[in-house]
Amino acid sequence: MSPFFLAKASGSPYERGNQIGRQSRQRIRTLIEAEFAYYQTHHAETADQVLGNARQYDPFIQEFSPKAFAEIEGMAAGVGCQVAEIVMLNSVFELMAARNPLVLPPGGILTDGCTAFAATAAATKEGVTLVGQNLDGRCDPWHKIYHDFDYLRQIETEEGLQYITYAHSGLLALAGMNSYGIGLCMNNLHAGRYQKGVPYAIIAKEMLEQTTLEEAIAVLHRARRPGSLNFLLGDSAGRLVDIEAMPEDLELMWADTITVHTNHFVSGRLREKLEFDVGLQPWSNSCQRRERVLTMLQTQFGQIEVDTLKNVCRDHAAYPGSVCAHGNPALPADQQARTFAGMVFDLVAGKAHFVKGWPCENEFVTYDL
Ligand SMILES: [Zn+2]
Repeated sequence: MSPFFLAKASGSPYERGNQIGRQSRQRIRTLIEAEFAYYQTHHAETADQVLGNARQYDPFIQEFSPKAFAEIEGMAAGVGCQVAEIVMLNSVFELMAARNPLVLPPGGILTDGCTAFAATAAATKEGVTLVGQNLDGRCDPWHKIYHDFDYLRQIETEEGLQYITYAHSGLLALAGMNSYGIGLCMNNLHAGRYQKGVPYAIIAKEMLEQTTLEEAIAVLHRARRPGSLNFLLGDSAGRLVDIEAMPEDLELMWADTITVHTNHFVSGRLREKLEFDVGLQPWSNSCQRRERVLTMLQTQFGQIEVDTLKNVCRDHAAYPGSVCAHGNPALPADQQARTFAGMVFDLVAGKAHFVKGWPCENEFVTYDL
Protein backbone atom coordinates (compact mmCIF):
# COMPACT_ATOMS: atom_id res chain seq x y z
CA MET A 1 0.00 0.00 0.00
CA SER A 2 1.42 3.36 -1.02
CA PRO A 3 1.88 5.91 1.76
CA PHE A 4 1.48 8.57 -0.94
CA PHE A 5 -1.90 9.96 -1.86
CA LEU A 6 -2.29 9.09 -5.56
CA ALA A 7 -4.62 11.27 -7.63
CA LYS A 8 -5.45 10.04 -11.13
CA ALA A 9 -7.03 11.93 -14.00
CA SER A 10 -7.56 11.80 -17.76
CA GLY A 11 -9.31 13.79 -20.48
CA SER A 12 -9.13 17.46 -21.38
CA PRO A 13 -7.02 19.79 -19.21
CA TYR A 14 -10.16 21.20 -17.54
CA GLU A 15 -11.54 17.71 -16.88
CA ARG A 16 -8.23 16.53 -15.46
CA GLY A 17 -8.01 19.48 -13.13
CA ASN A 18 -11.60 18.91 -12.06
CA GLN A 19 -10.98 15.23 -11.29
CA ILE A 20 -7.82 15.98 -9.28
CA GLY A 21 -9.62 18.79 -7.44
CA ARG A 22 -12.49 16.53 -6.41
CA GLN A 23 -10.16 13.70 -5.35
CA SER A 24 -7.86 16.02 -3.38
CA ARG A 25 -10.39 18.57 -2.14
CA GLN A 26 -9.60 18.47 1.57
CA ARG A 27 -5.83 18.26 1.05
CA ILE A 28 -5.86 21.29 -1.23
CA ARG A 29 -8.09 23.25 1.14
CA THR A 30 -5.67 22.48 3.98
CA LEU A 31 -2.76 23.95 2.03
CA ILE A 32 -4.76 27.02 0.98
CA GLU A 33 -5.51 27.70 4.65
CA ALA A 34 -1.85 27.05 5.56
CA GLU A 35 -0.72 29.57 2.95
CA PHE A 36 -3.10 32.24 4.28
CA ALA A 37 -1.99 31.54 7.86
CA TYR A 38 1.68 31.85 6.88
CA TYR A 39 1.26 35.27 5.27
CA GLN A 40 -0.97 36.48 8.10
CA THR A 41 1.56 35.40 10.73
CA HIS A 42 4.80 36.42 9.01
CA HIS A 43 3.74 39.40 6.88
CA ALA A 44 0.43 40.59 8.42
CA GLU A 45 -1.26 40.13 5.03
CA THR A 46 -4.92 39.34 4.57
CA ALA A 47 -6.11 36.52 2.32
CA ASP A 48 -7.26 39.12 -0.23
CA GLN A 49 -3.80 40.64 -0.35
CA VAL A 50 -2.16 37.26 -0.87
CA LEU A 51 -4.64 36.39 -3.63
CA GLY A 52 -4.02 39.77 -5.24
CA ASN A 53 -0.30 38.92 -5.42
CA ALA A 54 -1.09 35.46 -6.78
CA ARG A 55 -3.31 36.89 -9.54
CA GLN A 56 -0.29 38.70 -10.96
CA TYR A 57 0.86 35.31 -12.27
CA ASP A 58 -2.38 34.71 -14.25
CA PRO A 59 -1.30 36.46 -17.48
CA PHE A 60 2.07 34.70 -17.51
CA ILE A 61 0.44 31.27 -17.14
CA GLN A 62 -2.30 32.04 -19.68
CA GLU A 63 0.17 33.21 -22.29
CA PHE A 64 2.62 30.38 -21.68
CA SER A 65 0.09 27.53 -21.52
CA PRO A 66 -3.66 28.04 -21.94
CA LYS A 67 -4.02 24.31 -21.19
CA ALA A 68 -2.31 24.72 -17.81
CA PHE A 69 -4.63 27.58 -16.95
CA ALA A 70 -7.65 25.48 -17.99
CA GLU A 71 -6.42 22.73 -15.70
CA ILE A 72 -6.15 25.22 -12.85
CA GLU A 73 -9.71 26.43 -13.54
CA GLY A 74 -10.94 22.83 -13.55
CA MET A 75 -9.15 22.13 -10.28
CA ALA A 76 -10.71 25.19 -8.62
CA ALA A 77 -14.17 23.99 -9.73
CA GLY A 78 -13.42 20.49 -8.41
CA VAL A 79 -12.26 21.81 -5.04
CA GLY A 80 -14.98 24.48 -4.88
CA CYS A 81 -12.49 27.32 -4.37
CA GLN A 82 -11.33 30.41 -6.26
CA VAL A 83 -9.09 30.07 -9.32
CA ALA A 84 -6.71 32.51 -7.62
CA GLU A 85 -6.32 30.10 -4.70
CA ILE A 86 -5.02 27.36 -7.04
CA VAL A 87 -2.77 29.89 -8.78
CA MET A 88 -1.49 30.83 -5.31
CA LEU A 89 -0.53 27.22 -4.56
CA ASN A 90 1.19 26.82 -7.92
CA SER A 91 3.20 29.99 -7.39
CA VAL A 92 4.07 29.19 -3.78
CA PHE A 93 7.84 29.38 -4.39
CA GLU A 94 7.57 32.47 -6.58
CA LEU A 95 5.41 34.35 -4.05
CA MET A 96 8.14 33.82 -1.46
CA ALA A 97 10.98 34.63 -3.83
CA ALA A 98 9.24 37.85 -4.93
CA ARG A 99 9.63 39.09 -1.35
CA ASN A 100 13.16 37.91 -0.98
CA PRO A 101 15.12 36.42 -3.90
CA LEU A 102 17.11 34.24 -1.53
CA VAL A 103 14.05 33.15 0.50
CA LEU A 104 15.96 33.86 3.68
CA PRO A 105 14.20 33.55 7.01
CA PRO A 106 14.59 36.69 9.16
CA GLY A 107 18.23 36.89 10.19
CA GLY A 108 18.81 33.43 8.85
CA ILE A 109 20.91 31.59 6.34
CA LEU A 110 19.81 30.04 3.11
CA THR A 111 18.71 26.44 3.54
CA ASP A 112 20.30 23.84 1.31
CA GLY A 113 17.95 21.78 -0.81
CA CYS A 114 17.63 18.74 -3.01
CA THR A 115 20.19 16.36 -4.51
CA ALA A 116 19.62 15.05 -8.08
CA PHE A 117 21.58 12.34 -9.90
CA ALA A 118 21.44 10.24 -13.05
CA ALA A 119 23.21 7.42 -14.83
CA THR A 120 22.94 6.00 -18.33
CA ALA A 121 24.62 3.83 -20.97
CA ALA A 122 27.90 2.18 -19.85
CA ALA A 123 27.52 3.46 -16.28
CA THR A 124 24.49 1.24 -15.67
CA LYS A 125 24.39 -2.52 -15.32
CA GLU A 126 21.82 -2.98 -18.08
CA GLY A 127 22.52 0.06 -20.25
CA VAL A 128 19.34 1.85 -19.15
CA THR A 129 18.68 5.46 -18.11
CA LEU A 130 18.02 6.20 -14.45
CA VAL A 131 17.22 9.64 -13.02
CA GLY A 132 16.48 10.37 -9.38
CA GLN A 133 16.56 12.83 -6.52
CA ASN A 134 15.94 13.47 -2.88
CA LEU A 135 13.48 16.27 -2.26
CA ASP A 136 14.51 18.39 0.73
CA GLY A 137 12.99 21.36 2.49
CA ARG A 138 13.02 23.33 5.70
CA CYS A 139 11.81 21.71 8.90
CA ASP A 140 9.65 24.64 10.03
CA PRO A 141 5.94 23.90 10.57
CA TRP A 142 4.79 25.68 7.41
CA HIS A 143 7.14 23.79 5.11
CA LYS A 144 6.36 20.55 6.91
CA ILE A 145 2.63 20.86 6.26
CA TYR A 146 3.35 21.33 2.55
CA HIS A 147 5.19 18.02 2.56
CA ASP A 148 2.69 16.27 4.81
CA PHE A 149 0.12 17.12 2.14
CA ASP A 150 2.12 16.15 -0.91
CA TYR A 151 0.67 13.85 -3.56
CA LEU A 152 1.43 11.91 -6.70
CA ARG A 153 -0.47 12.86 -9.84
CA GLN A 154 -0.91 10.20 -12.52
CA ILE A 155 -2.20 11.87 -15.66
CA GLU A 156 -3.29 10.74 -19.11
CA THR A 157 -3.74 13.50 -21.67
CA GLU A 158 -6.26 13.48 -24.54
CA GLU A 159 -3.36 12.58 -26.82
CA GLY A 160 -2.63 9.46 -24.75
CA LEU A 161 0.57 10.73 -23.12
CA GLN A 162 0.85 9.53 -19.53
CA TYR A 163 2.96 10.98 -16.75
CA ILE A 164 3.41 10.67 -13.02
CA THR A 165 4.68 13.54 -10.91
CA TYR A 166 5.41 14.28 -7.27
CA ALA A 167 4.10 17.63 -6.04
CA HIS A 168 2.47 19.39 -3.12
CA SER A 169 -1.30 19.02 -3.31
CA GLY A 170 -2.78 21.51 -5.77
CA LEU A 171 0.47 21.98 -7.71
CA LEU A 172 0.44 20.74 -11.31
CA ALA A 173 3.91 19.15 -11.18
CA LEU A 174 7.42 19.04 -9.78
CA ALA A 175 9.67 16.04 -10.52
CA GLY A 176 8.30 13.19 -12.63
CA MET A 177 8.50 11.01 -15.72
CA ASN A 178 6.33 10.32 -18.74
CA SER A 179 5.38 7.47 -21.07
CA TYR A 180 7.69 8.81 -23.79
CA GLY A 181 10.65 7.99 -21.56
CA ILE A 182 11.39 11.52 -20.37
CA GLY A 183 12.41 11.98 -16.74
CA LEU A 184 12.68 15.29 -14.88
CA CYS A 185 14.30 16.13 -11.55
CA MET A 186 14.74 19.58 -10.04
CA ASN A 187 16.96 21.39 -7.52
CA ASN A 188 16.90 24.79 -5.94
CA LEU A 189 19.39 27.31 -7.30
CA HIS A 190 19.91 30.93 -6.35
CA ALA A 191 21.32 33.67 -8.53
CA GLY A 192 20.16 36.39 -6.12
CA ARG A 193 17.51 37.92 -8.40
CA TYR A 194 13.94 37.36 -9.42
CA GLN A 195 11.30 38.54 -11.89
CA LYS A 196 7.58 37.78 -12.25
CA GLY A 197 7.07 34.99 -14.77
CA VAL A 198 5.73 31.49 -15.23
CA PRO A 199 5.74 29.55 -11.93
CA TYR A 200 8.13 26.62 -12.03
CA ALA A 201 5.35 24.13 -11.18
CA ILE A 202 3.70 25.13 -14.47
CA ILE A 203 6.95 24.90 -16.44
CA ALA A 204 7.61 21.41 -15.00
CA LYS A 205 4.10 20.23 -15.97
CA GLU A 206 4.60 21.52 -19.50
CA MET A 207 7.96 19.76 -19.77
CA LEU A 208 6.39 16.46 -18.66
CA GLU A 209 3.75 16.77 -21.39
CA GLN A 210 6.34 16.73 -24.21
CA THR A 211 7.21 13.69 -26.31
CA THR A 212 10.91 14.40 -26.93
CA LEU A 213 13.83 15.70 -24.91
CA GLU A 214 14.27 18.53 -27.42
CA GLU A 215 10.69 19.69 -26.88
CA ALA A 216 11.11 19.57 -23.10
CA ILE A 217 14.24 21.71 -23.36
CA ALA A 218 12.42 24.12 -25.69
CA VAL A 219 9.75 24.64 -23.00
CA LEU A 220 12.41 25.96 -20.65
CA HIS A 221 13.81 28.25 -23.35
CA ARG A 222 10.48 29.84 -24.17
CA ALA A 223 9.27 30.31 -20.58
CA ARG A 224 9.74 33.66 -18.87
CA ARG A 225 11.61 32.18 -15.93
CA PRO A 226 10.91 33.76 -12.53
CA GLY A 227 14.03 32.71 -10.65
CA SER A 228 16.78 30.12 -10.73
CA LEU A 229 16.35 26.38 -10.76
CA ASN A 230 18.21 23.30 -11.95
CA PHE A 231 16.55 20.77 -14.27
CA LEU A 232 18.05 17.33 -14.71
CA LEU A 233 16.49 15.67 -17.75
CA GLY A 234 16.98 12.21 -19.20
CA ASP A 235 15.35 10.07 -21.84
CA SER A 236 14.99 6.38 -22.58
CA ALA A 237 17.31 6.75 -25.58
CA GLY A 238 20.15 7.24 -23.10
CA ARG A 239 20.60 10.99 -23.19
CA LEU A 240 21.18 13.10 -20.07
CA VAL A 241 21.27 16.85 -19.81
CA ASP A 242 21.51 19.08 -16.77
CA ILE A 243 20.19 22.60 -17.27
CA GLU A 244 21.01 25.43 -14.91
CA ALA A 245 18.39 28.14 -15.40
CA MET A 246 18.30 31.73 -14.22
CA PRO A 247 15.84 34.45 -15.27
CA GLU A 248 17.89 35.80 -18.19
CA ASP A 249 20.06 32.84 -19.15
CA LEU A 250 20.52 29.08 -18.98
CA GLU A 251 23.24 26.55 -19.62
CA LEU A 252 22.87 23.00 -20.97
CA MET A 253 25.43 20.49 -19.74
CA TRP A 254 25.15 17.14 -21.54
CA ALA A 255 26.49 14.02 -19.84
CA ASP A 256 27.50 10.74 -21.48
CA THR A 257 27.25 8.48 -18.44
CA ILE A 258 26.66 10.07 -15.02
CA THR A 259 25.73 13.48 -13.67
CA VAL A 260 24.94 14.90 -10.24
CA HIS A 261 23.55 18.27 -9.25
CA THR A 262 22.95 19.93 -5.91
CA ASN A 263 22.27 23.59 -5.05
CA HIS A 264 25.15 25.62 -6.50
CA PHE A 265 25.77 26.73 -10.07
CA VAL A 266 28.40 24.57 -11.78
CA SER A 267 28.57 26.45 -15.09
CA GLY A 268 31.57 28.79 -14.99
CA ARG A 269 29.84 31.11 -17.45
CA LEU A 270 26.71 31.44 -15.26
CA ARG A 271 28.72 31.72 -12.03
CA GLU A 272 30.15 34.98 -13.33
CA LYS A 273 26.59 36.34 -13.40
CA LEU A 274 25.71 35.45 -9.81
CA GLU A 275 24.95 38.07 -7.20
CA PHE A 276 25.19 35.34 -4.59
CA ASP A 277 27.08 32.04 -4.98
CA VAL A 278 25.87 29.21 -2.73
CA GLY A 279 28.98 27.23 -3.70
CA LEU A 280 31.16 29.75 -1.84
CA GLN A 281 29.15 29.84 1.40
CA PRO A 282 30.83 28.24 4.42
CA TRP A 283 27.49 26.94 5.77
CA SER A 284 26.52 25.17 2.56
CA ASN A 285 27.00 21.42 2.09
CA SER A 286 26.01 21.61 -1.60
CA CYS A 287 29.54 21.04 -3.01
CA GLN A 288 30.21 18.26 -0.53
CA ARG A 289 26.97 16.41 -1.42
CA ARG A 290 27.72 16.65 -5.13
CA GLU A 291 31.24 15.26 -4.68
CA ARG A 292 29.95 12.47 -2.46
CA VAL A 293 27.33 11.26 -4.95
CA LEU A 294 29.74 11.58 -7.91
CA THR A 295 32.15 9.34 -5.98
CA MET A 296 29.39 6.83 -5.20
CA LEU A 297 28.40 6.62 -8.87
CA GLN A 298 32.00 6.47 -10.13
CA THR A 299 32.81 3.69 -7.66
CA GLN A 300 29.90 1.62 -8.97
CA PHE A 301 30.35 2.60 -12.61
CA GLY A 302 29.04 -0.16 -14.89
CA GLN A 303 27.00 -1.73 -12.08
CA ILE A 304 24.52 1.07 -11.35
CA GLU A 305 20.90 -0.03 -11.10
CA VAL A 306 17.72 1.21 -9.41
CA ASP A 307 18.86 -0.07 -6.00
CA THR A 308 22.14 1.86 -6.35
CA LEU A 309 20.22 5.12 -6.67
CA LYS A 310 17.84 4.18 -3.83
CA ASN A 311 20.99 3.79 -1.70
CA VAL A 312 22.17 7.23 -2.81
CA CYS A 313 18.87 8.59 -1.47
CA ARG A 314 19.59 6.86 1.88
CA ASP A 315 23.22 7.97 2.14
CA HIS A 316 24.35 9.38 5.51
CA ALA A 317 28.03 10.13 4.73
CA ALA A 318 29.15 13.45 6.30
CA TYR A 319 26.01 13.51 8.45
CA PRO A 320 24.31 15.94 9.18
CA GLY A 321 25.32 17.42 5.81
CA SER A 322 24.36 14.15 4.09
CA VAL A 323 22.24 13.41 1.02
CA CYS A 324 19.56 11.90 3.28
CA ALA A 325 19.06 14.99 5.42
CA HIS A 326 17.69 14.94 8.96
CA GLY A 327 18.39 18.55 9.93
CA ASN A 328 21.53 20.08 11.40
CA PRO A 329 21.13 20.47 15.18
CA ALA A 330 23.73 23.26 15.16
CA LEU A 331 21.18 25.49 13.41
CA PRO A 332 17.94 26.99 14.78
CA ALA A 333 15.03 24.58 14.26
CA ASP A 334 13.34 26.71 11.60
CA GLN A 335 16.53 26.86 9.50
CA GLN A 336 17.25 23.15 9.39
CA ALA A 337 16.57 21.21 6.20
CA ARG A 338 15.44 17.62 5.94
CA THR A 339 14.57 15.12 3.25
CA PHE A 340 10.82 14.78 2.69
CA ALA A 341 10.78 12.33 -0.25
CA GLY A 342 13.00 10.37 -2.61
CA MET A 343 12.44 9.14 -6.15
CA VAL A 344 14.15 7.08 -8.85
CA PHE A 345 12.84 6.92 -12.42
CA ASP A 346 13.72 3.99 -14.69
CA LEU A 347 13.03 5.60 -18.06
CA VAL A 348 13.46 2.42 -20.12
CA ALA A 349 11.25 0.17 -17.97
CA GLY A 350 8.70 2.97 -17.42
CA LYS A 351 8.80 2.52 -13.64
CA ALA A 352 8.77 5.32 -11.07
CA HIS A 353 9.95 4.49 -7.54
CA PHE A 354 8.85 6.92 -4.82
CA VAL A 355 9.43 6.99 -1.07
CA LYS A 356 7.54 9.31 1.26
CA GLY A 357 9.55 10.58 4.22
CA TRP A 358 13.16 9.66 4.89
CA PRO A 359 14.46 7.13 2.35
CA CYS A 360 16.54 5.51 5.13
CA GLU A 361 13.44 4.73 7.20
CA ASN A 362 10.73 4.07 4.64
CA GLU A 363 10.16 1.77 1.68
CA PHE A 364 10.08 2.82 -1.95
CA VAL A 365 6.84 2.03 -3.80
CA THR A 366 6.87 1.36 -7.56
CA TYR A 367 4.39 2.83 -10.05
CA ASP A 368 4.17 1.65 -13.66
CA LEU A 369 3.48 3.99 -16.52
ZN1 LIG B 1 18.32 9.23 6.59
